[in-house]
Formats: sequence, structure tokens, C-alpha cells
Amino acid sequence: MAGSHTDTHCPYCGLQCALRLESDGTELAVTPRDFPTNRGGLCRKGWTSAELLTSPHRLTEPLVRQADGALGAASWEEALDTVGRQFRTIRAEQGADRIGVFGSGGLTNEKVYQLGKFARAAVGTSRIDYNGRFCMAAAAAATTRAFGLDRGLPFPLEDLDNADSIMLLGSNVATTMPPFLKHLRRAQASGGLIVCDPRRSATAQLTDEGNGIHLQSAPHTDIALLLGLTHIVFAEKLADVEYLESRTTGAAALRRSVAAWWPERVQHLTGVPASQLRDTARRLAGGRSYILTGRGVEQHTDGTDTVTAAINLALALGLPGRTGSGYGTITGQGNGQGGREHGQKCDQLPGCRSIDDPAARRHIAGEWGIEPDKLPGKGVPAAEILRHLGRAEGVSALMVNGSNPAISGPNASAIRDGLKRLDFLIVCDFFLSETAAFADVVLPVSQWAEEEGTMTSLEGRIIRRRRARPAPSGVRSELWVLRELAARINPAVHFDDDPERVFAELSRASVGAPADYSGLDYSVLEHEEPAYWPYPAGSTGTPRLFLDSFSHADGRAHIRTVVASPPPPSSGPLLITGRLLEHYQSGAQTRRVTELLASAPEAQAEIHPELAEKHGVAEGDQIVITNEHGRMRATAHVTPNVRIDTIFVPFHFPSDQSVNLVTSDATDPLSGMPEFKSAHVSISRLSGTQ
Ligand code: SF4
Repeated sequence: MAGSHTDTHCPYCGLQCALRLESDGTELAVTPRDFPTNRGGLCRKGWTSAELLTSPHRLTEPLVRQADGALGAASWEEALDTVGRQFRTIRAEQGADRIGVFGSGGLTNEKVYQLGKFARAAVGTSRIDYNGRFCMAAAAAATTRAFGLDRGLPFPLEDLDNADSIMLLGSNVATTMPPFLKHLRRAQASGGLIVCDPRRSATAQLTDEGNGIHLQSAPHTDIALLLGLTHIVFAEKLADVEYLESRTTGAAALRRSVAAWWPERVQHLTGVPASQLRDTARRLAGGRSYILTGRGVEQHTDGTDTVTAAINLALALGLPGRTGSGYGTITGQGNGQGGREHGQKCDQLPGCRSIDDPAARRHIAGEWGIEPDKLPGKGVPAAEILRHLGRAEGVSALMVNGSNPAISGPNASAIRDGLKRLDFLIVCDFFLSETAAFADVVLPVSQWAEEEGTMTSLEGRIIRRRRARPAPSGVRSELWVLRELAARINPAVHFDDDPERVFAELSRASVGAPADYSGLDYSVLEHEEPAYWPYPAGSTGTPRLFLDSFSHADGRAHIRTVVASPPPPSSGPLLITGRLLEHYQSGAQTRRVTELLASAPEAQAEIHPELAEKHGVAEGDQIVITNEHGRMRATAHVTPNVRIDTIFVPFHFPSDQSVNLVTSDATDPLSGMPEFKSAHVSISRLSGTQ
């Protein structure tokens, strides 16, 4: 295509595949670029991402709720004044903590930083959190506890290329981020691909080729499985004793804690044959090995402990903190990594600083020009904000940026009721999402190829997002929106709307912090040289963490023993939620891309043939899935690829096809992660269907 082009990255997931956006003046086209994460590949979402920019569904003017109850067009002045007036009134009459801010792992680092500053320095509320709480919270808590630092992959993704064995726990990268598979090929070819998943997912099926291992464990048995594998490592003298002595604390307790988890007992609980367990442990001990976790094992009320059990297995084998082996978690959202570093988590200030740390508070307050005691303290995690919307103990006003909790939040019918109860809801988005439909004010903002910014990929590498075209007339950047709102709420605090200057401020704010970006600016990132944090001034970044020491004060990895709780009594099949190749998160974007919607237009429930027969359900039937939280509708897809005691439903769909209508908002007490994968349900065929 002749014309102009811009080299940037895909707007969707954490792999941040590199692409070129070409324009001939009328049409836009995407072509893949070579980059270490995607090696010239793109998935279907990336190939079609340009359609987001020209979508007829695009919001191009502010909307304000009118006297007749409908959303109507308004000027920017009117919309911003309405928000400013409402926030000032609610803060004065009810207190700043009655105003909540709900961010996203899809926002650029600059927006994340500015959103946290807006909440704490302009509004003065502690009630800020984000949808990454639903993705990365358990792994973040476990890695911080074990290693003293939270970076999803503490090594470049390319390191996997030379692995002999890779164990994926609860991750289906073949569907969610297909170019990732390029990094599994060597391990797969040499019989070292090990996938733990109750489904025979697309990734699990790859173990058929190359003599890999699929551990198809029963629901609620992930910790038992990991304790069993660690037992074998010690029992068969596969543990790296010298490593445990020199680089960890707590190894003796770990050995004792797994003593009773012999393989036959684990087989009884998990359904995984003891021979497979032994084979797995031996393969992991036999060469360059990696253990990687995903949402399948993390989205539970014991998610942090499950990840801890995986880390303990890795530590027993001596994998973390060495070149050629390791533990990591696979970040899902586009900026799921940077999104949890720069101040939209309820307990953190920019740079992954603890909000309870007096020195961190002084540093950030100094950067923002306020007194440290004016900085609010720790807030509450996302599910708790959403649980109490509009109630006395919760927020009465909420601002949502780049998130769609009416679809992606747990126990979604309760969230929708809460959104209706609010005194005031403002949503910044580029489409009228299901959450925005409840709003009093909707502000149309620019999207990926209309703005400059930075994203931090799943490997902790900071990359530039490039502006390829102007936003439609009437649309503004979120940085501009935050500046304008801050001017109406607390004009004493300076807010910039230039992404490069905001990044410079973010970099200063991160000096000396765990996620230190202070050696980076836009010119350093100009030519896509590798830039892994921590990247202090004067350094060239840190592609591989922990090679000399872990980030705890004593330099060691801290082993915490965990226990496996007995599975809860079963009352119907276990519902597992997840993603499709065609859609991203709540589907607010990908359901508006013609090809993606045509390919995956509705929620399908994967049901085992025996379970389907028991309920009189045939392929293509409409079924109703119910439990104490609500009910949803799906089309039955009868397949042996799910266990007889589980059903799988993707979470991208709206209205009565939203699977989060039947998920629970119970959370992991250590991380605030909701248990998306623990709901028991009843199924029945919808009468009237063929
Ligand atoms: Fe790559 Fe993810 Fe975009 Fe697909 S959605 S092209 S895997 S970044």
C-alpha cells in the first residue's frame, strides 16, 4: 500500500506484537513487523485492529444524561463542568473516599500514572483500583512475597527458545496469544512441553505432538498437584540442594510440608496418574526448565498460594535467578505489567512503591507538590469497590477509565445493580461500552494509534506506542481530560497533558523505586532498543532479574509453605471462564470488529458429551446456566475436550450471554483476586430450542 506508515504495536494483549499501520489516505492496513515477542507473527485480533480506528460505533462527542433519562450530546465544557461540580459537591458533602476511580491494564503508563495522581492529589480519594486486579493480582502478590519484586517474566521471552522443558499452568497461549508459540517450539519438539489444564485446550493439544505431557487435573486440586510434584523432587533427590542453601530461606520447612504428598495420594485427589507426575518432575529436573503460570490457576480464592506452590517447585529445582531457567507469570492485558506499576493499585504509589512507606510518600508528594500527609492511605481492591457501589460503606460516585466491569467484573448482575445505585458515574472510553451505558457522563477519548505513549510488555520491556493518525474531531486524550478535570477540582496541583512530559515526570517519580524507569525517556525508547526495568539512570536496564540476588533485603528468595484445602462440596459442574482467539477482555472492542464478531458472535458453552447427554443437551442447543448469583444463556458445544465435571464459557459477551452473571465475587484474601474459576452451576436446555 503506497502512502504513509507508522511502526507501532498491537492495541490488545501483553505480548505487544509489533505491527506497521499503513494508510493510502483512505484505507488503513496492518502488517506484522519482526520483534522479539512476535517474530513477525500476529493473531487475528492484531491483523484486524485497524478497524477499531474507523469503526462507525466510535464516540465522537461527550454524552450527558438528560432530564428524560437518555444520554444526549453535550459540549466538552458542559460535560467537564458537570463532572467537576459533582465531584466537588460529593467530596464536600460526603468525603473524598465516596469518590472512586477504576482504571485499566489497557491504559498507557502515562495515563496510569496520571490517573493515580488525579485520584490521590486532585480528588484526594484512596478509592482507586483497576481491572488488573482481576488478572495479575495473585501472581503479583506471590512473586513479591517470594522474590521481593513483581515483574511477570523476569527474563526476556526469547529465553524460552532454548528451554528443554516448559510447564504452563492454567495458560492457553495457543488461543490467547498465538505468536507466543514460536517460543515453545524447541521444548515441544524435545518432549518438554508440559501443560496443566482441566481442558484439552489448544495449548494442551500441542503436547500430543512431541510426546509432551498434559496434566488434566480435577478442579480445585492445583495446589495438591504442585505439592505432589515438589514431593517427588525431594524424594527422588532432584532438588538443587546447594541452590536452596545459598539462595533461599525456608527450604527445610518446604521439604517437611510436602512430605505427605506422595504421588499415589496426589493421583487420588487430582486424577493425574502418579507415573505422569513422576515423569513431569524428572523432565523439569532434567535440563533448562521454566515454570509459567496463567489465570487458570491464579483466579481462585487461594490464587496467591497456588502461585506460591508453583514458585516453591521452581525454587526446589533451582530455576529462578539463573540464565536459562526460571519462573514467570504470563500477563494478559496490553499494559497489564505497567498498569500495576505506576499508581492505580490501591496499595501502591508510582514505581511499585508501597503507599505505607513514609519515604515513598515523601518522594511522591514532593513530585506532586503536596504535603505527604495530604496523600491518602491504602484503599480497597477492585472487587470490594464494585461490591459496595452506591452503598453507605462504598463509593457514591465512580470514574471508569478503559474498563468495562459490567461485563468483566465478577458477579456482574450485582455490579450492574451497583452502577445503577450510584449518585454519579463517569466513563471515559472510545465506544459506548455496557458500563458506559449506565453513565451520567461519557467522555470520548482517543485510542491506540491516535496517541503517543508507552506500554510495558509481559516481559517488563518498555515500548513506544505511536500516533499514526489524528483522533476524530470531538475526541480528546485522557491526559487532557484528567488535566481539565483536575483544574476544576483542585487547581493547585499541576497536571500535564503532553505524553512525553508526563513520562518524564513518571520517570522522576520512579527514581530508586522497585520499578525504576529513571534512565528512560522518549529518545532512549525511540529506536526500540531493549529497555527492561529496573532501568535506573546511567544503566542499560535489566533484561534478567535476580541473577546475583533476589530483591528481599537478605538477597534470598523466601519460601512460604502452603497447604491444599479440600475441594468444596460439588453441587453441579464447575464453571471455568476464559478467552477466545477472536476476542479481548469484555469484547467491547473486538465485538465491534466485523470479522471477529462474525467468527465468534456468541457465547458457547463447552460441555462434555456425557454431561450433555445427562441433561438432554445436544450440539447447538440453547442452554441456561444458573446458580445463586444469577443465570446466563449460551449455545452448547459438545466436546470431549472438557472434563465431565466442568464446563467452559468465554467471558467476552454482553447482556444475558455474560458468563460473569454466574461468577462469584469472593476474593483471595492475600491479593484481592476474584475466584472467576470456582463457580458451581446447574445447566438446563432452554425449552423451545431444537
Ligand atoms: Fe499479538 Fe496479542 Fe495483538 Fe494477538 S492480541 S496480535 S497476540 S499482541
